Amino acid sequence: MSNFKVPYKTYLEESELPKQWYNIAADLKEPVLPPLNGKTKKPAGPEDFTAIFPMALIMQEMTQERYIDIPEEVQEKYKAYRSTPLCRAYALEKALGTPAKIYYKYEGASPSGSHKLNTAIPQVYYNKQEGVKRLATETGAGQWGTALSIATQMFDMECTVYMVKVSAEQKPYRKILIETYGANLIKSPSNQTNTGRAILAVDPDSLGSLGIAISEAVEDAATHDDTKYALGSVLNHVILHQTIIGQEAMKQFEKIGDYPDVVIGCCGGGSNFSGLAFPFMKEKLNGNKDTEFIAVEPSACPTLTKGKFAYDYGDVGKFTPLMMQYTLGHDFMPPGIHAGGLRYHGDNATLSKLVKDGYIKAVAVHQTDTFDAAITFAKAESILPAPESSHAISAAINEALKCKETGEEKTILFCLSGHGHFDLTAYDAYLKGDLHNVDYTDSDLKKGFECIPEI
Ligand SMILES: *Cc1c(COP(=O)(O)O)cnc(C)c1O
Repeated sequence: MSNFKVPYKTYLEESELPKQWYNIAADLKEPVLPPLNGKTKKPAGPEDFTAIFPMALIMQEMTQERYIDIPEEVQEKYKAYRSTPLCRAYALEKALGTPAKIYYKYEGASPSGSHKLNTAIPQVYYNKQEGVKRLATETGAGQWGTALSIATQMFDMECTVYMVKVSAEQKPYRKILIETYGANLIKSPSNQTNTGRAILAVDPDSLGSLGIAISEAVEDAATHDDTKYALGSVLNHVILHQTIIGQEAMKQFEKIGDYPDVVIGCCGGGSNFSGLAFPFMKEKLNGNKDTEFIAVEPSACPTLTKGKFAYDYGDVGKFTPLMMQYTLGHDFMPPGIHAGGLRYHGDNATLSKLVKDGYIKAVAVHQTDTFDAAITFAKAESILPAPESSHAISAAINEALKCKETGEEKTILFCLSGHGHFDLTAYDAYLKGDLHNVDYTDSDLKKGFECIPEI
């Protein structure tokens, strides 16, 4: 192996693509506490989800089965853009002067520009199978709306996207892109739903939040028979679909004869991080490897690092079941930072449990530090990263710089969850020096916790 130079990019052949998703529930040492019905506070059953999700996805949400077959039609759609490359960041290593080996799995190579298409495709597929005509959803930064708009187009279904108002205004081109693929886009809070009207009555200038937009989309689905809801993160079935990322990465590492010592991802609701990390986590849970895992979030929305581990709702309108998770409180109104995809009050329940039990380390980074990292990365590797992904880059660079001090040749892997071509307003603000750090204060924290129900 000594003279073998790892290629810049490693791909998989079509025949090598994973044919199953991996479900970490089968390998957890202790089960995650079950979701509870939001009204009765009793464990939620499939019937608690049927108004908004198709049965196939509800079963995936709850199953303990270790591997789930990827339907052939979904495998076919995946082949159009997968595998995504596992890239060796030679230029970044050189720029940092680190002995560490840095790799990134580039999910921005998908047609939607992020990892979100990996779950949009199967979600649309299962809804179509069960006769659903229209999907309603929310989008924060716009990546999920783009992915669902593309996927509904693939399967000839209708799509309504409630887009967080501040994002629609910060990212007009995302909005146009979503509409180009055929979705009907509504700025949230809107006057189309009871939730939206109630918010606007109190605050006509509300910037919106993911929590509000989720409530609007869920209400839309629950009040229309031919319509279901689709969520781009947080839930187990979403993370299940995203394990295509980590499973590909494992095979790619096998090809080049390496294995990560550290796995890093940014964390909004937890899907790109967990999608990359969970197949590697399986080896840690089973005692085969001692990999380190780092989930990175914004200091302005410090769910995993400062949140409370408690049962809470997934949305402002309290339509969702209660999930045991790290939460800032479902009423949380995040500051308008540019990593819109990371402005969510909670996190996936399994990921939260793995953080709580010490398998995953969580860190928070300031906005300007993530943009410093983004620029370093862009100048070295030529790819302009999404502001969300830049949180992962920032942590990866920190790890690599630690190696520079200690002389350790660690193998670092991070998920480059998306490109930043629609985030140029944010880059513009950074370059002009107009970008500021927003801290989540102790009084914000205390106020957020007040709405978390006592269970
Ligand atoms: C949505 C999004 C995220 C955050 O969501 P997760 O579910 O935590 O992955 C991160 N990066 C990009 C590019 C996104 O679109």
